[in-house]
Amino acid sequence: MRRPAAFLDGFARVVFAVSRGIASSLSLYDPSVTGPPASGSRQLPRDIAELKALAERQPELAPAAALQIGLIEAVRRVQGRLSTPWIEATADVLASRLAGGTPLLEFDQIAFEWNDVRLLIRQITDVLRRHDAVDADTAGALHGVGRSPQLPATLRLWFEGGTLPPIDMLDEVLSWAARPYLQRTVEVLQQRVSLDTWRRRQCPMCAAEPDFSVITSSGERQLVCGRCHARWPFDPIACPYCGNDDRKTITSMATSDGAYRVMICQVCSRYIKALDARRSTRPLLPYADAIATLPLDAAVMRKIDQEK
Ligand SMILES: [Zn+2]
Ligand SMILES: [Zn+2]
Repeated sequence: MRRPAAFLDGFARVVFAVSRGIASSLSLYDPSVTGPPASGSRQLPRDIAELKALAERQPELAPAAALQIGLIEAVRRVQGRLSTPWIEATADVLASRLAGGTPLLEFDQIAFEWNDVRLLIRQITDVLRRHDAVDADTAGALHGVGRSPQLPATLRLWFEGGTLPPIDMLDEVLSWAARPYLQRTVEVLQQRVSLDTWRRRQCPMCAAEPDFSVITSSGERQLVCGRCHARWPFDPIACPYCGNDDRKTITSMATSDGAYRVMICQVCSRYIKALDARRSTRPLLPYADAIATLPLDAAVMRKIDQEK
């Protein structure tokens, strides 16, 4: 799924491609949305508001922001219909699983509404097609996955990290379609356990990799799961992809306002971006921050090119 050498992974690669000509200056950030942090699904309208503001402030990011808003709106339409999953495991059982290093979320616990998942796959594909992120043949293949009786098996394969059919963007489309259901189950699990002692590289909930991070007001680092958006504490220096913690082989850069940082690992050639809560005027908005930091992705790629 994720190739170590791919400096832009998955969806970031697509939104990046949609926004060709991203400004090279990193001094343009002006996070203007303020207020108390929201959580889970209720956060989406704030992401949309911030994406609209971002598109006005930085017109070169407008195409990527419009794509992202289209995807968020597709997800929001099914969120009102989510049911609450029933988790049998007690708090003690969950805590001991975490203590043993086992992520909590199992595919069979997730309360998928298959008709809505199929609808989401179709709508997400249509949004990608409208923004030219996939061609007509690929869109047809993606629609086919959504219609297939095999969809539950395909989604299980995706969740468990198996090899998916070779269709461009399938991983990303399934991520978007499954996320509301993953997040709802994670919300239920999170009411029963603390993730404070989990300091591993994979998500304590769904076992995926982090794809963003937050530096808290006290200077600690939290990783943010790329799949379910759960957050957990992690070593402030070490690379969350390969574990390298030798400062000499880890480069750090920041935007001029200090709101965003990026840490590049020279051992595995991957990097992770961060929102620095000590300098930002608002909490993390995962969907908006993915777009707001595209210029930082561009800067990282230039730096890696220069060093070659
Ligand atoms: Zn996760
Ligand atoms: Zn690394």
